[in-house]
Amino acid sequence: MTVVMTNREGATVARSSWVDEWAQYGTCSGSDPDALFVQGAAQQQAKQVCMGCPVIAECLADSLDNHTEFGVWGGMTERERRALLKRRPNVTSWRTLFEADRTRRVLSAS
Ligand code: SF4
Repeated sequence: MTVVMTNREGATVARSSWVDEWAQYGTCSGSDPDALFVQGAAQQQAKQVCMGCPVIAECLADSLDNHTEFGVWGGMTERERRALLKRRPNVTSWRTLFEADRTRRVLSAS
């Protein structure tokens, strides 16, 4: 199934494909960026904006592949991303991993 996303300017992209320019389609697009760069426990509340975000996989893959240290990205806090990177040191490309998983799910649904 293909879901079409629309950004704030009206541009559309198919959800079943990987979105390179993902930031413009994020739920947080247009919001105060500082809201995602809170500290400590406040990140647990801040990451609620990510739930249901249509580009959560792209956002998370980007932050993991770039070892982004600060802020909430892809529904994960700094601490959660650090822990994930530590648990899976063998992953060389999170994008490749997530993209392959998405392709597998799209194919199995068709
Ligand atoms: S996953 Fe969260 S931080 Fe990333 S684009 Fe979506 S709302 Fe923004």
